Amino acid sequence: MDQLHDMLVAVGQWAWEYLVPHSESTHQPFLGFALGSMGNVLKSYVGFIVLGTFIYLFFLRRKGEPFSLLGALKHLFPESIYTHRSFKVGLAWLPFSWVANFVLFAGLTIGAGAVQVWLLRHYGAVAWAVPAGGWAVLLQVVFTLLGADIARFAWHYQGHKVAFFWEFHKGHHSPEVLHPIFIRTHPVDMFIRLLYMNAGGGLLGGGLMYLCGVEASATGALYMTYIGAILHVLQGFEHSHVPISFGRALDKIFYPPHFHPFHHGAQLKHRDKNFGITGGLTLWDQLAGTLYIPEPGEKPILGASMEELGDNNPHRTLWRFLKGPFFAAAATIRRTDRPLQPSGTS
Ligand SMILES: [Zn+2]
Ligand SMILES: [Zn+2]
Repeated sequence: MDQLHDMLVAVGQWAWEYLVPHSESTHQPFLGFALGSMGNVLKSYVGFIVLGTFIYLFFLRRKGEPFSLLGALKHLFPESIYTHRSFKVGLAWLPFSWVANFVLFAGLTIGAGAVQVWLLRHYGAVAWAVPAGGWAVLLQVVFTLLGADIARFAWHYQGHKVAFFWEFHKGHHSPEVLHPIFIRTHPVDMFIRLLYMNAGGGLLGGGLMYLCGVEASATGALYMTYIGAILHVLQGFEHSHVPISFGRALDKIFYPPHFHPFHHGAQLKHRDKNFGITGGLTLWDQLAGTLYIPEPGEKPILGASMEELGDNNPHRTLWRFLKGPFFAAAATIRRTDRPLQPSGTS
């Protein structure tokens, strides 16, 4: 029994060291954090391969298919996806996506805590302080995640419902294949998302912490990093053909990875649905009336709309993906809302 306990502790320590980015370079903290975050992105790829292999071997493998690692890798990386024209455009954008990922991670772990400390300094403590310890750490994590979840939903809802912002967000929806390496996002859309999540999420999370008398602690921030790293691995499956569900009951509370491919559906019934993010609450989608629970075995047709596939895809080159939205967004200024259906059809 003692041996089992020691083994579990050793595995836990290894997982901790492996998953949490190390940024404590005393000489160059920025470089240290950037490299740590980049390493974390690479680790999420390892996570996709390890978890994906497990899911394939034990859940997705059809009867008669051999129990083989090579078979699993072939399933995880089908040639049809990685030779698709749409994938090549995404690949060219990859290095920039890594940079944005670093900024997001930095803001999420420290933003809410910084806001709470600022409020405390300027307005003093509230009368009902939660004593430092387990509860304070738990509430810090919950409020930070909640703030980020709400702020992200607001960014995403705006990106779909307001024509001007949709033109920039559309770049995330124009890929016609999904892959976990990183689905492209236009830099303007990325900037708006970072602003919402870091500033909006920080204000909401930090505000909640302050109002409830929860003091930010380094331990809370560390747990945030840990949970963030695990969520990051799971979120890698959102943009993949490997479906991960938390089970029918939990799926209705916490947004599971397999809801997201339907957010990328080109058909009218899938468009503007499932705005949430893996690990966040489906509550926001339920309140907005935008939750789409897929049928078992259902597969979406991927793309911005049925009229913008193949040769009609407005982002069929990297240059068009980068430049196009500026002109398209400018053209929307006179329009008031994004038409859900193309002009000429009803
Ligand atoms: Zn979207
Ligand atoms: Zn997506």
